[in-house]
Amino acid sequence: MDYREKFLVDPTKKLLLGDIDPNHTGEHTTKDSAEPLTNQYREQMEAEQFLLYADGRQSLLVVLQALDAAGKDGVIRHVFSAMNPQGTRVHGFKQPTPEEAAHDFLWRAHAHVPADGEVVIFNRSHYEDVLVVRVHDLVPESIWSQRYDKINEFERLLTENGTKILKFFLHISPEEQLERFKKRLDDPQRHWKISESDYSERKFWPQYLEAYQDALSKTSTPHAPWYIIPANYKWFRNLAISQIIADTLKGMGLELPPTRVNIDDIKAHYHAAVKAANGKNP
Ligand code: AMP
Ligand code: MG
Repeated sequence: MDYREKFLVDPTKKLLLGDIDPNHTGEHTTKDSAEPLTNQYREQMEAEQFLLYADGRQSLLVVLQALDAAGKDGVIRHVFSAMNPQGTRVHGFKQPTPEEAAHDFLWRAHAHVPADGEVVIFNRSHYEDVLVVRVHDLVPESIWSQRYDKINEFERLLTENGTKILKFFLHISPEEQLERFKKRLDDPQRHWKISESDYSERKFWPQYLEAYQDALSKTSTPHAPWYIIPANYKWFRNLAISQIIADTLKGMGLELPPTRVNIDDIKAHYHAAVKAANGKNP
């Protein structure tokens, strides 16, 4: 199954998140049936990221957006651990610092985009500026409503500079969120993750869905597509995201760069070095 087709946000159709089933697991009914495939995609991701790094001409930016407890951290842990930390970075977006707030909204995002050869994961992103900012009226509508076009232009700039962009919205149900909040409460190891805002934000669920629907439809472009990932089942979420990333990387035409040296000359150096070493240590 190519989830790039199945979960792509089509900007020409009206998007209703309420119509998308967060429990969807496709042809897989259990974690055990999905896991071998997920592992296969993880291996493919590892091999392709090695090539991306070696090739050094393109990069990958992955944007993760979701409501609280939908699994952004889990995706980073389970999916991206397949990649070599060398060449990979995660950047989280919190409430803007005074310095960030004193700049245009894209400034802090631009500062962290991947360099050639890199994979960067945005844990939240510049999209917060049309999501939380819109839901809580942090800037007037006349300002946030113009940001979609600016985001599309920004992402086009990155794409034209060799950055592939993939954007994932992790879709959970309010019931599943509450389950996960309970797990956090029941497990002292997870208490550090709890915040008051988890509960206050939950009250804005419909407003968030509306803001997400708009953001996803207005900014799902051929160069920077959005995917809505059913995420009530963590193992399915991991499978779908791994497949989309693995196959996107595969389609980027990554290759090892040409050898920079004359291998025959180097072999001669090597044999001379062996001879010298043996001379010293018979
Ligand atoms: P967390 O992802 O749980 O660490 O929380 C980060 C918090 O920062 C979330 O509540 C976000 O909504 C908030 N945040 C991120 N970006 C912005 C922004 N541009 N303006 C206001 N709040 C933001
Ligand atoms: Mg949180």
